[in-house]
Order: sequence, then C-alpha cells, then structure tokens
Amino acid sequence: MRLSDDTVKDIMGRFRREMENGLSRDTNPTATVKMLPTFVRSIPDGSEKGDFIALDLGGSNFRILRVKVTQDKKQPVQMESQVYETPDDIIHGSGSRLFDHVADCLGDFMEKQKIKDKKLPVGFTFSFPCAQSKLDEAVLVTWTKKFKASGVEGMDVVKLLNKAIKKRGDYEADIMAVVNDTVGTMMTCGFDDQRCEVGIIIGTGTNACYMEELRHIDLVEGDEGRMCINTEWGAFGDNGLIEDIRTEFDREIDRGSINPGKQLFEKMASGMYMGELVRLILVKMAKEGLLFEGRITPELLTKGKIETKHVSAIEKTKEGLKKCMEILTRLGVEPSDEDCLAVQHVCTIVSFRSANLIAATLGGILARLKENKGVARLRTTVGIDGSLYKMHPQYARRLHKTVRRLVPDSDVRFLLSESGSAKGAAMVTAVAYRLTEQARQ
Ligand code: BGC
Ligand code: MG
Repeated sequence: MRLSDDTVKDIMGRFRREMENGLSRDTNPTATVKMLPTFVRSIPDGSEKGDFIALDLGGSNFRILRVKVTQDKKQPVQMESQVYETPDDIIHGSGSRLFDHVADCLGDFMEKQKIKDKKLPVGFTFSFPCAQSKLDEAVLVTWTKKFKASGVEGMDVVKLLNKAIKKRGDYEADIMAVVNDTVGTMMTCGFDDQRCEVGIIIGTGTNACYMEELRHIDLVEGDEGRMCINTEWGAFGDNGLIEDIRTEFDREIDRGSINPGKQLFEKMASGMYMGELVRLILVKMAKEGLLFEGRITPELLTKGKIETKHVSAIEKTKEGLKKCMEILTRLGVEPSDEDCLAVQHVCTIVSFRSANLIAATLGGILARLKENKGVARLRTTVGIDGSLYKMHPQYARRLHKTVRRLVPDSDVRFLLSESGSAKGAAMVTAVAYRLTEQARQ
C-alpha cells in the first residue's frame, strides 16, 4: 500500500495523459476520465445580487439553502439552510420517487421560509457525473457512491425535478443551473479569491474541476477564453490503467460495491471506502495471528463496522491510541496496547496512500495549468471541500506537502470552502441570473 515517490510521479503522468484523452474529439468517446464541459465560463465578478435557492444532493448530506447576495461590503452573502434525510429506500428506489422527495423537501423549505408564492431562481448542486450542453441541462452519465435510483441515468435531472415540482403544483421554481460539487466549491472559493481555478472534493467521493482553455476542449465550439471542466477523476483506472497499484483489498472493496469495476480510483482514495479498507486489512492480519492473538469477532467481520471517522479519530496525535482502544474494544477483539499501535499504523498507511493518490492527480491538473499558461512559475488557488479532508487530523498537511513536491515551481494556495459547494451553486445561478437580466434589458 506504500507508494514510492517514483510511483506517485508515474501515476501523475498517467493521469495527465488520461485528461488529454478525455479532451480530444477522437479519444473522448472511449475515455475513462470523462473531462465533462460544465458551461461555467467565468467566476463571479462581485456585481451579482439577488435571492436564490440552492439544492445540494449527493454529498454526505442533502441540504437546501436560501442564499441572499447583496452589494454589502461586510457581509455580501447571507445563508440559511436545512438538512433533509435521504433514506436508503429512496436513493435505491425509483427515480421518480427520489425526485418527488426532493420536490417535497423543497416545498417544505419554501413553506418555512414563507416564499412559496415567489418563483426564485434555483441552483442545483448535483454531485454526480453529468453530460451538459448548457448550464440548465444535465444528463446523468452514471450514479456513483451510495446512489442507485432507477430510471435516472441518461435523463436530464432538471426535467425530472421540474416534473416532480409540477406534479405537486403548489409552488414554482426556476432551475437555472446544475453544477457539480467540485464546481460549486471552486465558485465559492472564487468569490473570495479571484485566483481560484481548481475545485476539489475529498469526501464520500472524490473529484476535481479546473479552468481549461476553450481551444483545448474539442467538444465545445469556440477558441477564446476558458471553461470549467469536471474531470470525474474518480473513474481513473476503470480501463485497467492503475491495476499495478491496486491491492487484494481494493479488489475486495470493488467486488462488494454497488458499482463493480467503476470508480476504481475513488474506491482507493475517498471517505466512503477508507474505513472499510482498514477493516479488511485488520481481518487479514487477525486471521494470520498478527493482531488480537488471532481473535476474530462477528463485529470485526461486519462490513461498515469501521468508518472513516474512526480512522480520523485513531490518527489523532494525542488521543489517537485511546480512541483506537475504544473502537477496537467495541468490536470485541480485546486489543492489547501493541495491537492499538499496529492498528494506528495501518490507518496511517491507508490514509497516506489516499493523500498520495490525490496529490498525483491534483499534481497532474496543476502541471497542465502551468503548461497552458506557459509560465515558469504557477501561482494559483485550489478550493477544497469534503469530509475526509476536513475531519482527518493529518490529511491536509500530507496532501499539501506532496503536491508541492510534485509541482516544484509553483505557489499553490489551498482554500477550504467553509460554507460548502451549495453556496457555489447559488453563485453560478447569480452569475447566470445577472447575464439573463442584462440580456433582457
Ligand atoms: C462523483 C463526482 C463528485 C464526487 C464528490 C463522485 O462519486 O462522480 O461527480 O464530484 O463524487 O462528491
Ligand atoms: Mg458536498
């Protein structure tokens, strides 16, 4: 599971070639890293204003927000938000039930906000790969992570949501933009730092977007200016390109997932799978008598019993070992102090590998940006969000360090998107709204 510096560099090179394959007309149809155009061309310029609704579906929470953007210098953006449940039977049921649920939650939110009589512009953060030909159309390419509602792949999610809202008939909404969460993150950070041109998520899933030169995007007309590309790097390796670094544990995770053979890079690096990777390694070690004096309990053998938040707790510098003792005791394996040290070590190896993998792909994007700009030194900002990045005690530091080593001539600022990707959907909507208003006048 340990990746040498040379391997990480090599992975970075492979990812760069995969990005090129996704961008070129001839190779795009068969490319695994899809490089989806987002139709987001510019970041906010500060003149946006208005009252917006943002939906955020596909991360660790389903949230609805009301975002007011004003010209107030001190507090230009005001937000109120509410989290709604997305039970398993809904995300694994029929697509129409899923969108009925989204429409119901939106109705409830508007009721509570007392805005049911208004037709507010809505921005939709939808954290899955979508093919877009304009800002307010998004055809789901494939579900990822925990989602698998039937009849949605290949459909435009704006149409599906509009249909569900119409069916209720008690309020109206104007869905103006669908954005990936990476794009939302980049836009949120872009509002505070004009240099932000990359957005990444390291949470339940993982992915990144960045600003690409339009002349390199074969699938979109035009040569002037730039457009944000959603890389969908989670699918890196689905064509066998990283088989040499996948382990027996990665293969087992994939076999037990709802989408075998897909999102192979994501399964090695993101939060949804990290705890489970650790658990599989512990089971193997226990079976070989290397841990817990060979004790194996039903709990230890239960899928999902070790979560990524546990890995984060175990790797805390001060209380990590104590937490480790607590967590393992709950699994009934009666751990010794030595066991705890060993398990902490396993966690470090698994989370370090994730940080190295993400550093490799992010390094690939940064090297590309540098080449696009033709500069000797790259100065840029990366907007980041996601539970793993935010909650893990060592992750951010390790990632930053490796990225800076991989792209030496660069000043990279990492900016945490505090209020998340949904605010970004509101920002995209605000920009779209400003442009349509301007066009109307
Ligand atoms: C999805 C991406 C998303 C990422 C982070 C992945 O599974 O394919 O669209 O950006 O998760 O939420
Ligand atoms: Mg999110």
